[in-house]
Amino acid sequence: MSGQPPLLVRSREIWRVPAPPGGRFADAAMAPFPVPRSLLRSFGVFCVDTTQRVVALSYDDGPHPAHTPGILDVFADAGAHATFFVLAEQARAHPGLVRRIVAEGHELALHGDDHTALTTLPDSEALTRLARAREQVEQIAGRRVRLFRPPYGKHTAGQARGIRAMGMELVIWSSHAWDWIDADAATVARTAWEGVFPGGIVLLHDHRADPQTLGPHEALPTFDKADVARSLLQRLEAEGYSVATVGDLIAAHREVRSALRDRMRRE
Ligand SMILES: [Zn+2]
Repeated sequence: MSGQPPLLVRSREIWRVPAPPGGRFADAAMAPFPVPRSLLRSFGVFCVDTTQRVVALSYDDGPHPAHTPGILDVFADAGAHATFFVLAEQARAHPGLVRRIVAEGHELALHGDDHTALTTLPDSEALTRLARAREQVEQIAGRRVRLFRPPYGKHTAGQARGIRAMGMELVIWSSHAWDWIDADAATVARTAWEGVFPGGIVLLHDHRADPQTLGPHEALPTFDKADVARSLLQRLEAEGYSVATVGDLIAAHREVRSALRDRMRRE
């Protein structure tokens, strides 16, 4: 918490092309009056409000032995840290990777047990699954996990309340790189860069957990995810950006919260 109450804005103020300028979300806030903090917390954190050139890079759906180690190597070389929203089923299959993520100073966060959209489940079942997934990931990692990003960014209002009651924070994203379908690494890195703005939370993937949702003219990613990470980190450094974890962004700056609109097909 930065101490200032979160700002509530429409998602179209965040998911813009070109990317919004940082530090101007107060102008776009929906409520001209203070919204109770408890109510605001049923909306996810999409980014933070700052003019400082700082951004969080987040990875979903992993860990995966084909991709996560190379990404970790690149971040280690750059001295940067990411936030990994892991699936418990992947964590169970690759516990050593979870421990490496933690040992190398990255932020460990939760993306669920498997990639089922929570909105397809009754609230009580979704929350039971989530609690179990959290416990398993925490046991493997040996530390608490506080941030949660639901698959596809989707959740019900009741689930949001339950997530809050579990002491977890809902985190969505402010941009992504279309990296769940194939393209060349340079294109993916450029797309990721184009979504960057001060205080942004960029969604990337170190695995694609739902290949069954592949569209008829789409191909699964074959590009080198470590190459994407390297290009993106180089570009960020060249443009004067520092990279922080999502938790650090939230701790230092005013949160910008919003509701997901069904604009993007899948994340
Ligand atoms: Zn996902």
